[in-house]
Amino acid sequence: MQGIRLKRACLFLWWAACLWRGAPAEASTSVIFPESWEIGQAFAVALSSHSVFESPSVTWMNRVVSLDVEPGREGYVSYGLLGSYVRDVKPGDYPLEFQFVQDGERFLVQCTVQLKAKKYPEEHLKVDGKMVTPPKKQLARIQKEAKLTAAARRTMTQKRLWTTPPARPVSGVFTSSYGFRRVYNGVPKGYHAGTDFRAPVGTSVKAPFAGKVVLTGNHYYAGGSIFIDSGNGVVSLFFHMSEIAVKEGDTIAKGQVVGKSGATGRVTGPHLHYGLSLAGQYVDAAPLFETSITALLKTMKSAVVRE
Ligand SMILES: [Zn+2]
Repeated sequence: MQGIRLKRACLFLWWAACLWRGAPAEASTSVIFPESWEIGQAFAVALSSHSVFESPSVTWMNRVVSLDVEPGREGYVSYGLLGSYVRDVKPGDYPLEFQFVQDGERFLVQCTVQLKAKKYPEEHLKVDGKMVTPPKKQLARIQKEAKLTAAARRTMTQKRLWTTPPARPVSGVFTSSYGFRRVYNGVPKGYHAGTDFRAPVGTSVKAPFAGKVVLTGNHYYAGGSIFIDSGNGVVSLFFHMSEIAVKEGDTIAKGQVVGKSGATGRVTGPHLHYGLSLAGQYVDAAPLFETSITALLKTMKSAVVRE
């Protein structure tokens, strides 16, 4: 089991009281994760066991991601969706740590994921000059909005409301992909952190995942915006909306209409920008529309960590 280490952490007595003890012969516990993956692309992780476990989490890129516990084919399972933001992450080996409590003991499983570079193309755009270098009087507003959106993206809830594949938010084709190096009016301005869909102003926008609205607003760059938390660090962002049909705290069903697309904020024309943040890392949502967590997990390494 190269690259994986299981550690028994200290025993906490308060956990022992509420544990069900499975027969040792059936107590096999496994983790599933990618040994190697491309930067910017989402991957799946899972923890599964014949016997019950509690308080599962996975630590990735210095974030602790709370996982849910669900009935699985052979007992219990926790699923996670993770990734890395092309702007912030360099190729290399990164630690991934599972934690759980089983039979009254706390376990840590230390794994390593090798992240490989992926080439994303450059995109030159012409926008209104004030959207490249904002007027000074807008700086306070921009800073305030950056704080609000960062907090929304840090939302971490345990219940898994996301299911795969996600529903497409609009039926239009992709017009700009994730990871494009964006050059606005000749000035490099970072990377495209989402997927743009063709959508005339007024197109109904559906939630790709069930969840809860954590932020709505009319922001300087993003225009009409909605942030939806779907659990385990999975947060969806919708930008440039002309109408917002939900409010903070609303519970959203998968496929529910959350508003109408538009051309508000920093845009070159009407479209829907859909962003997917996984534990704070913006990833490429596009491939997820064509796959499922089960299919993703099949491509990854599975390792028994407890017999
Ligand atoms: Zn976009």
